[in-house]
Amino acid sequence: MELVFATNNKHKIREITDLLDDNFRILGLADLNITEDIPEEAETLEENALFKARYVHERSGLNVFADDTGLEVTALGGAPGVYSARYAGEGKSFDDNIEKLLGAMQGADERSARFRTVIALILDGSEYLFEGTVEGEITRERRGTGGFGYDPVFLASGHDRTFAEIPLSEKNTISHRARAMRKLLEFLREYTRV
Ligand code: IMP
Repeated sequence: MELVFATNNKHKIREITDLLDDNFRILGLADLNITEDIPEEAETLEENALFKARYVHERSGLNVFADDTGLEVTALGGAPGVYSARYAGEGKSFDDNIEKLLGAMQGADERSARFRTVIALILDGSEYLFEGTVEGEITRERRGTGGFGYDPVFLASGHDRTFAEIPLSEKNTISHRARAMRKLLEFLREYTRV
């Protein structure tokens, strides 16, 4: 089965390709010559993921899935959530976003947070949603140099090292994205078995 992953992020494509057997072939946006950034302007992760999947499906007619992720901080009413990539403003760096987050949480004792990934799949004309979450907390300062995004300040529950301190192979066993991907894969395996 051929499936498009509506992303230009080679790491994400690699991540899912590694999890799949030879029955699946994953194409990225570059393979379809879709070079523009697909807008992510909706107010929920679900709508953004669906929008991206529909955008590619309408242009290619192919089976496709798309993902969207947010960091939801309890003390901030779920922010930055769907705005995680541009929390500190358009074009700002991961570090700027962390700086803003630590500032917003200065002095806060309630530090619980979760990463949430939603994957939207369009398969043979039907739409499906899959979700993966990881619960944890926001540290008081950055720790570690690995990963990306908010990894240096995210401590998964039951762990004593941040996502930026653990190897990628370990992060990939517990992360929100890996969990959502696994749900997608289980569904696809079941679907193709019928
Ligand atoms: P995206 O939907 O995967 O592009 O993620 C949106 C934003 O969420 C990214 O720009 C990051 O700031 C943040 N994010 C997503 N996944 C992770 C992660 O695994 N670690 C840290 N931050 C992440």
